[in-house]
Amino acid sequence: MTTRFVDVPALAALLQKVGVARFLAELTEALRADFLRWPEFEKSARTASHSAQGVIELMPVADANRYAFKYVNGHPGNPEQGLPTVMAFGVLAEVSTGYPLLLSELTLTTALRTAATSVLAAQALARPGSRCMALIGNGAQSEFQALAFHTLMGITEIAVFDVDAAATDKLLRNLAHLPGLGLRRAASVADAVCGADIVTTVTADKTRAAIITSEMLASGMHINGVGGDCPGKTELHPDVLRAARVFVEYEPQTRVEGDIQQLPAEFPVVPLWRVLAGFEPGRQAAEQVTVFDSVGFALEDYSALCLVHRLATQHGVGRMVDLVPPQANPKDLFALTRSDGAASAALRLVA
Ligand code: NAD
Repeated sequence: MTTRFVDVPALAALLQKVGVARFLAELTEALRADFLRWPEFEKSARTASHSAQGVIELMPVADANRYAFKYVNGHPGNPEQGLPTVMAFGVLAEVSTGYPLLLSELTLTTALRTAATSVLAAQALARPGSRCMALIGNGAQSEFQALAFHTLMGITEIAVFDVDAAATDKLLRNLAHLPGLGLRRAASVADAVCGADIVTTVTADKTRAAIITSEMLASGMHINGVGGDCPGKTELHPDVLRAARVFVEYEPQTRVEGDIQQLPAEFPVVPLWRVLAGFEPGRQAAEQVTVFDSVGFALEDYSALCLVHRLATQHGVGRMVDLVPPQANPKDLFALTRSDGAASAALRLVA
């Protein structure tokens, strides 16, 4: 046995072969199928290590067959040092033996799975026929959100805004040639939100921000709040949450990390999986404001890792590596340390 290793160039090659839009579509359906199996997963809130600059998190999850974990950080000041705000990698392993099947980059993949999860929620919660979106925060995640909402949700107009004009320039350049999508540079958050059916906030700032306030709300709006995902890091004013029906991924984690951290523990929220499964209503009226308080849950990375593993195997992408000692006698680990030829003999035996 060997482990498939998919690094960033390999994942990029896979996306070029499959197409980003098709990957997003397959991932959205994989997420839906896994959310519908929610009770089958062993779940826990992620383990977070906080510093003044950001956070480093470990996100495990398992079902009866597969175990997955992701290492991910969130450092809003990183771009000033030439590094991404969010960087990630992860593993998919076989539960029956513990053998790691896949070691993969998850920085690009996180952007894809976050966008696919946003669409999964919006398909269930936003008003049917939603066509206009506001996209606040035009950094690394933003084009993936725009592409997913355009191709999978029928969004045809997006008003974009970022406090960093260069980030908006980059987004407009990257998406300029997408057929059927109109992009408008807004002058402010309020200007972007005006007339939007869906508002996506995907900003990075380690602060209790109130980017969306209740004066900006319109009847029937759906808010996809992606950037408020850490204690002390929010995007929505508490009055926005109070005015809305709020949906979450894994409630124990979102209570600590999501925008609802600003509200008492008894503030009512609805788990997204229960809506998808038909156990609870999503939107209850056309005028209702809905909020998906997204923080990112390990199950979404499980779905993404399983898809990357399947597609990379199918397309021969990535390479096989000896992440686990491949010696002929599994009890003779020490042979690998010997310099008398035993190590290479042990390895040759299984080659
Ligand atoms: P990024 O640093 O590349 O981009 C963030 C952008 O937000 C920057 O361009 C910045 O100028 C802009 N911004 C900051 N404050 C703003 C404000 N007040 N108004 C408008 N724009 C503002 O980061 P990214 O990788 O795009 O990630 C964005 C956010 O999404 C981060 O907070 C990250 O933690 C979060 N995230 C959440 C999930 C999830 O599953 N919920 C997954 C990935 C990332």
